[in-house]
Amino acid sequence: MNIPKSHPRYESLKTRELVVSGIKRGTTSLHGLTAHGRGEAFDYLLGEKTNDFAKKSIEAAAAVLLNAKHPVISVNGNTAALVPKELIILSNLLNASLEVNIFHPSKKREIKIKNHLIKNGAKNVLLPDKKYKIKFLESNRKYVNPDGILKADVVFVPLEDGDRTEALIKNGNKVITIDLNPLSRTSQKATITIVDNIVRAMPLLIKKVKQFEKYNHNELKKIIKDYNNKKILKIALKTIKKL
Ligand code: ATP
Repeated sequence: MNIPKSHPRYESLKTRELVVSGIKRGTTSLHGLTAHGRGEAFDYLLGEKTNDFAKKSIEAAAAVLLNAKHPVISVNGNTAALVPKELIILSNLLNASLEVNIFHPSKKREIKIKNHLIKNGAKNVLLPDKKYKIKFLESNRKYVNPDGILKADVVFVPLEDGDRTEALIKNGNKVITIDLNPLSRTSQKATITIVDNIVRAMPLLIKKVKQFEKYNHNELKKIIKDYNNKKILKIALKTIKKL
């Protein structure tokens, strides 16, 4: 669809179009549309901008990712449609694997997501392996790759569902998410929640990782120690309530 640049909702419509393209390509599930719609509603309430509280979470996320021994970036149908290039840039910067993980079981869609990332420049993309699973999770998302999430210490799971976030935490992982809904179970359970639109947050996260690359271990630790996710979520909710 050709969206005129002068349209007052150009950015939002363009982003929505990316999800629709994902569905046409077969990488995004139809359910991804409702998830995106929920995100759009919260984005409206948050002023469709990266708020200061989100900038703090982005800094903490960059520090945790750089401090990780084995960070992994989990990719679902919506993230692959919205920010494929940014996922790859982040994975290269951190030397972190990209691992496909989706809720609605479909080997075909997993492979399509992998191919989409490869087409966008990824060198290697891990797929879940039914021989390996994490504990405390019943859904399809329990299956993991032995070289990826199974041995990760930090898992980046943008646009996630709450069950898996909780399970990853119980399995001993630190979990970083991007989620526009500060009330979602994911937001509430994650170690770090970036309450922002993924299309705005990813370039900023990449920028912070590049900046913090020069920091030493103690400087990164200080940023992590000073961060309080509960406080950030409270500020995000207050921002919505003030409207
Ligand atoms: P939970 O299980 O965590 O309570 P949920 O059932 O709402 O969450 P899903 O539908 O699996 O979760 O995930 C979608 C989440 O991603 C929603 O919270 C939605 O607000 C958020 N989201 C959707 N699109 C975006 C986007 N572009 N940027 C950031 N967050 C988004």
